[in-house]
Amino acid sequence: MDKKTLSWIEIDRKAIENNIANLTKLAGPKVAIAAAAKANGYGHGLPEMVTILHRTEVPYLALHSTSEAETARAAGWERRIMLVGGVAPDDLDALVRLDIEATVFEPSIIEKLGRLSKKSKLTVPIHLKLETGTHRQGLTAKELAKVAALLKKYPEISVAGVSTHFANIEDTTDHSYARNQLKEFKRLVSELKKAGIKPRMRHTACSAALLLFKNTYFDLVRPGISLYGYWPSKETYVSYRLGGGENSILKPALSFRSRITQIKTVEADSFIGYGCTYRTSSRSRIAILPVGYSDGIDRRLSNLGYVLIKGRRAPIRGRVCMNLIMIDITDIPGVKLYDPATIIGCDGSETLSADTHAGWSQTISYEILARLSPLLPRYVV
Ligand SMILES: *Cc1c(COP(=O)(O)O)cnc(C)c1O
Repeated sequence: MDKKTLSWIEIDRKAIENNIANLTKLAGPKVAIAAAAKANGYGHGLPEMVTILHRTEVPYLALHSTSEAETARAAGWERRIMLVGGVAPDDLDALVRLDIEATVFEPSIIEKLGRLSKKSKLTVPIHLKLETGTHRQGLTAKELAKVAALLKKYPEISVAGVSTHFANIEDTTDHSYARNQLKEFKRLVSELKKAGIKPRMRHTACSAALLLFKNTYFDLVRPGISLYGYWPSKETYVSYRLGGGENSILKPALSFRSRITQIKTVEADSFIGYGCTYRTSSRSRIAILPVGYSDGIDRRLSNLGYVLIKGRRAPIRGRVCMNLIMIDITDIPGVKLYDPATIIGCDGSETLSADTHAGWSQTISYEILARLSPLLPRYVV
């Protein structure tokens, strides 16, 4: 990256293409892929993901909101969009205007949508989400009769899909809960069929299901984290390997870097940063990086995390500030002003992954990636 940029995110297009190719192979030729790209493409940048996905055969984007769908359309995405997060009751015209398929988990929205589509004489495709044990979004078994009646009343609404989402598939190596959800899903789908509703597609699989269980694929799979090169969890990786799965099918695609904007020598017994939480024990060389918690670096990394400079680990000293961190480079010779530092990514033989950050912050890679600031410039490399 040229020196006009102080902090940036790089997206490795080949890594994403590799992940999509391997996941497509796993899914097989009859199963469509909906690339989950909510939360700004898991922090990778939604417009950048649109650019990358355009070069693949992926037919669907799975997004959270109509505003994300606006962004994807503005970036030139012309294929299908599935909204997994639902739609505001008065924003139904956005579905038609943006040509998107909303997930419906609330009967009253079918009534609203029905009236709209009848008035406009347009067919509106939806996905019915079924409650199978996650107790998040989903139509319960009791609501299905009402749903069927509404769908009869409004033939303009076409059921593009029927779906569910697993509660306990990535957090465990015991998959009995997921098996029960799958059973319940099949039962509810046959209930719908009896009521005369035949969805074009059935879909249940997130990354963990796609990586582990062929019987969850049905007609379409919805991988997110794996597209970006991360395993949903250690448990998923272990289960996959125990099942004889090939190693290294996923390559992380994102790097987050920033340039040193100041280097200073600090005498022994000096305090560094807000709250004077760090005191030097000897004369130290401190580098300043213009990134902080507003960029997505967890404040819990204060006096705990490190970054990579010249392929070496440089510890964070003092508290993480809103847009700055202080780094100890005393033991790394030859560091100059504007040298790049790696916050997430590889440098030489060292790697700091989103999983490394997740370990430091006691969270998951998903959160680390999703909260990378949308203000950071993204470059597809
Ligand atoms: C985000 C999301 C996914 C993708 O999950 P991953 O674990 O990232 O693969 C799949 N389905 C739904 C409904 C989602 O919201």
